[in-house]
Amino acid sequence: MYDAIVQDLIDEFGRLPGIGPKSAQRIAFHILQTQSFDVTRLAELLSTVRERVRFCDLCGNITENERCSICSDPKRDQTLICVVEEPKDVVAIERTRQFRGLYHVLGGAISPIDGIGPDDLNISGLMRRLGENQIQEVILATDPNLEGEATAAYLSRLLSSMEVPVSRLASGLPVGGDLEFADEVTLGRAFEGRRVLGNA
Ligand code: ZN
Repeated sequence: MYDAIVQDLIDEFGRLPGIGPKSAQRIAFHILQTQSFDVTRLAELLSTVRERVRFCDLCGNITENERCSICSDPKRDQTLICVVEEPKDVVAIERTRQFRGLYHVLGGAISPIDGIGPDDLNISGLMRRLGENQIQEVILATDPNLEGEATAAYLSRLLSSMEVPVSRLASGLPVGGDLEFADEVTLGRAFEGRRVLGNA
């Protein structure tokens, strides 16, 4: 097919999420053929991001500091915690402007097929926050698919022993879908219509 080094580049792009073989090939050739494409800048940016970006000590969101911009914002409602799977879900919910509380990023969802159990997720951090702070509501905003539902069910069982109301995003979100792909209106409505799961 191609020289080994070009094929290596295509293979590397092909390993990225959402990039199929054709897209990988297109990106590789764009970089090879476009004179104005700044390879050095991309390479530097990638290594800088890797060095500088970390996970917030409190919520697990991505940040350049110990605490993310949301956790360190005093105007956010400290009594609400919205539990999501990934940092990208924080971005999706922030876009709706429906939520002024804090987040907790699990770092994934329970998935027996992929060998991901509760211990692999940032659940102990959530329990610690609930123990240490006066929380009025925990909103479970995991993805509306099999893994997300399993995770929400697990968490609502776990939290039933604590004196904190737990809610789940309302339907209207496409089942089997990914939170990040929901449009702002749908996600916003799901937020407004969240239902209480227990401890209300
Ligand atoms: Zn944070």
